[in-house]
Amino acid sequence: MGAKNINCKLIFTFFVLIPKNMWTSCDQIAINTRNNDPKYAYHSYQSSVICYPKTAIQYPSSISNVVRLVKNARKDGVPIKAIGSRHSITDIICTDGTPISLKLLTKKYYHEDNTATFEAGIKLDQVLLFLQERNRTLINIPIYRGITLAGAIATGAHGSSLKHPASISDQIIGLQVVTGTGELVNINDTKTLKAFRVNLGLLGIVVKVTLKIVPIFKMSIQNSVEEIDILTSGKALEWAREYDHFQLWWFPSLQEVVVAKGNYLPFLKNTTFEGNATNNLITEVTQYTARFAAVLYEFCNWAQIGLTILEGYMRDFLLKSIPTARPLYEEGGTFKNPAVGIGWRLLSSQCRPGTCWWDNPWATVGGTESAIAFDTKHFKGVMTMIQDTLREMPTCFYMSGILIRFMPKSEAYLSLSSGRETFSVEWVNPLRTRRHLDAVVGLGTFQAILQRMVRDFDGIPHWGKNGLHFLGENVLKKNRDNFIAEMKNFDPDGVFLNKFGRRLTGEIGEADVDPEMERCALHDYCICGKDYDCGVGQRCEKLSDGVLVCRDQDNVILGGLGFVFGTNFLAFILYRLFYR
Ligand SMILES: Cc1cc2nc3c(=O)[nH]c(=O)nc-3n(C[C@H](O)[C@H](O)[C@H](O)COP(=O)(O)OP(=O)(O)OC[C@H]3O[C@@H](n4cnc5c(N)ncnc54)[C@H](O)[C@@H]3O)c2cc1C
Repeated sequence: MGAKNINCKLIFTFFVLIPKNMWTSCDQIAINTRNNDPKYAYHSYQSSVICYPKTAIQYPSSISNVVRLVKNARKDGVPIKAIGSRHSITDIICTDGTPISLKLLTKKYYHEDNTATFEAGIKLDQVLLFLQERNRTLINIPIYRGITLAGAIATGAHGSSLKHPASISDQIIGLQVVTGTGELVNINDTKTLKAFRVNLGLLGIVVKVTLKIVPIFKMSIQNSVEEIDILTSGKALEWAREYDHFQLWWFPSLQEVVVAKGNYLPFLKNTTFEGNATNNLITEVTQYTARFAAVLYEFCNWAQIGLTILEGYMRDFLLKSIPTARPLYEEGGTFKNPAVGIGWRLLSSQCRPGTCWWDNPWATVGGTESAIAFDTKHFKGVMTMIQDTLREMPTCFYMSGILIRFMPKSEAYLSLSSGRETFSVEWVNPLRTRRHLDAVVGLGTFQAILQRMVRDFDGIPHWGKNGLHFLGENVLKKNRDNFIAEMKNFDPDGVFLNKFGRRLTGEIGEADVDPEMERCALHDYCICGKDYDCGVGQRCEKLSDGVLVCRDQDNVILGGLGFVFGTNFLAFILYRLFYR
């Protein structure tokens, strides 16, 4: 353990040695000026994105009600926007006008031609249960089932596979949509679907979705620890191409990678493929556990201790049964690895509202997410760049390591894998209790990696994750003109436009964000240009290749050094006593 802890502990001594600040101009999205009455404000699930609409959220109970709402919005010149379960943490979910939720539109229709149609407000969990009752399923799904079908499609939410379509978007056969002029249209021609598959909620209000379905299948999945060499030797990509499901979690401080290899199996009763294991990655927790975790994360960030231990805890959670957590793969209360079970129940998980990690007063465990996608030809380059950055500025990825997932080429204009075999690099950071003031440990490292990923490797950010700096005009790359042409076609008056959409088209540089977030680099709303853009006690510093990042000031570190080493020692003893 001692040797493995070194990276995180080095953070403290390293900062003492770095040169004083050298920074240049700020590149910043204007923070939202709040025009509307805050009484109608709504926010992302973990509350980092706050939207100020003109009216309260509307809940149409029929498709004709949706049509009426859009026609009224157009007549009154008030924008309108559908929202899902607000699990996106970008201002993609905001509108200055009328937000509408389709949560009452959840009808399901089964067809005999291997398709099924769903009203768009239905949650993914309900889709999969309905299909299972008919011995059918979806070939691949995102990790979390608590999102709506329309919301998943709008951002191209994906799972991980190079052998099967990775997103729900790529399983669409047809859509029914209310356009910006209030017409109800069916979209099923190949060309128009290229725009609608990942539509960002900017082309229309999707009211019905027809999906390709497949016979229900089981799968076997096994997690194992591998050497980090697999990241640069080509082995990781080789496995990604070999298995039906493959993803990996990289724990840099531990110098280890946990890989999940999954194979699809026919669903035959009474065969060797027996098993009913489920996945608990996004597990249900009690309020007390969630609060304890929130306090623990805050303490570790504040005192800069114990973060490698958290990385180790997460690594162990993926591999074995550990105290304090429900097993990752579970059957009848017992941990399973390898595990066999129904495909969708092993590919994804779900918590019921009120039992999720983020359902605590501080919502810190929900965190902020970064996710950037690349052509697989850059796999070795991106891995090497991250390793080099971590050597330069060691830190931990203490919430769940660095998750790496894979997607085959997609036809959708705005898919993360549009026209290219793709992998994505993702991580989560907790929100600090004083989220407007304090930086998470390692912020500068995360910022350097993100900026280098986008600048040097043509990285594309996930539409529902990432700081808003990364979701500006230049993010619409090769299919920009095609998508904007469809926006004009289906929404000529810009009824569905929000600040997010206007930024992408280059119309404005504003974003909908928490107005208290003055330190814009803290959540990557900007690249820092001055110290005040960073956290308290941090400075904005230019690294040798020009990236601008927030780093702790020397005096803070010097003052805390004695405390840090003392408490690190204490945390290590506690860990040994209670955990190992
Ligand atoms: C715990 C967790 C796990 C996650 N796992 C994954 C994952 O594995 N893979 C992944 O890619 N992402 C993942 N995400 C991100 C999430 O899946 C996406 O951001 C998804 O888009 C959220 O769906 P939602 O229903 O919450 O929609 P929202 O976030 O509310 O909305 C997203 C977009 O959908 C649009 N929209 C909603 N309804 C309609 C409609 N009827 N018509 C037109 N547009 C509409 C909105 O306008 C908005 O543009 C995860 C998020 C969380 C919190």
